[in-house]
Amino acid sequence: MSRYWSSLVEKLDPYVPGEQPRLQNLVKLNTNEHPYGPSPKVIAAITAQANDSLRLYPDPTAQVLRQAIATRFELTPEQVFVGNGSDEVLAHVFQALLKHMAPLVFPDITYSFYPVYCGLYQIDYRAIPLDATFAIRTEDYLGDGAAPVGGIIFPNPNAPTGCVLPLADIERIVAANPDVVVVIDEAYVDFGAQTAASLIGRYTNLLVVQTLSKSRSLAGLRVGFALGHPELIQGLDRVKNSFNSYPLDRLAQAGATAAIEDEAYFDQTRHAVIRSRETLTAALVQLGFEVLPSQANFVFTRHPAIAGEALAAALRARSIIVRHFQHARISDYLRITVGTDPQCQLLLAACREILGQI
Ligand code: PMP
Repeated sequence: MSRYWSSLVEKLDPYVPGEQPRLQNLVKLNTNEHPYGPSPKVIAAITAQANDSLRLYPDPTAQVLRQAIATRFELTPEQVFVGNGSDEVLAHVFQALLKHMAPLVFPDITYSFYPVYCGLYQIDYRAIPLDATFAIRTEDYLGDGAAPVGGIIFPNPNAPTGCVLPLADIERIVAANPDVVVVIDEAYVDFGAQTAASLIGRYTNLLVVQTLSKSRSLAGLRVGFALGHPELIQGLDRVKNSFNSYPLDRLAQAGATAAIEDEAYFDQTRHAVIRSRETLTAALVQLGFEVLPSQANFVFTRHPAIAGEALAAALRARSIIVRHFQHARISDYLRITVGTDPQCQLLLAACREILGQI
């Protein structure tokens, strides 16, 4: 509290990012980073840009990067918006496209930044409960006319559950809500789900948001993007150019372009994570864990014999950090990022030891 704060700042309930520990040798499975480093071509591209040109501002339109993304998704650069991580892209999306008279809707269990943006931009929202299996019920988003909706957003796969909504259901939701923007946050889509980008040509109200932080191993570079009809992209540009004209620096634009263009490395590393997820899931089930079906680079799991918070603390005591959320419906669960196979083995050995001591 400070008497210098605005009343808005006083009322904010900011997002709490997962811990980025200073300690070495921790097995870090708490913020869904990729266990493998970025493509060598990304490092080469960034290194090549680390020169005198850094005295000049970067391209404010990130034209080369937007073209690379457009090519990959068979779109045009006018259908692409880029920003400093998808969190920044999402912030602009909330302000530009989701702030209306009627409340924005999203699931009760979802990315916990959504209510934070609503607080920052003073957007009214309604949280729709996931069903008992933690799945999104498509019917809840088809607009029965009873309650007006100002916009819809959810991740696919959802976070922190990892559960997927099939593309056909996403299309039903987009088609049923032509008067509002439907945002699909695809932060984890490359680990097993289908992107909705293929629907963009047919629906002017669909916005797909992706990030290079997860499947491209670039959480440290801060690059995210949105795909949608040029009208939606222009709305985002208006907010961006009223906030920070140069959100992506020269190194980020070069590295991100190289990452998008290196399909072979992308496929190789994301499939390695998918394989590790399947092995980890089977081993956790063997130990008595209940694991939700995940198509992401994390698993959401609980064990009947130990509370989520206690298990997280016991793992931490063994130098393994995972994520626990203080939300009533999911307080038994832990979200565990899929690491390398040796990291998964360390996790499993620690779980075995902890469960053996109960
Ligand atoms: N969306 C979801 C669902 C996420 O889990 C995250 C990562 N915390 C993001 C968006 C933001 O990722 P970034 O800002 O690193 O692109």
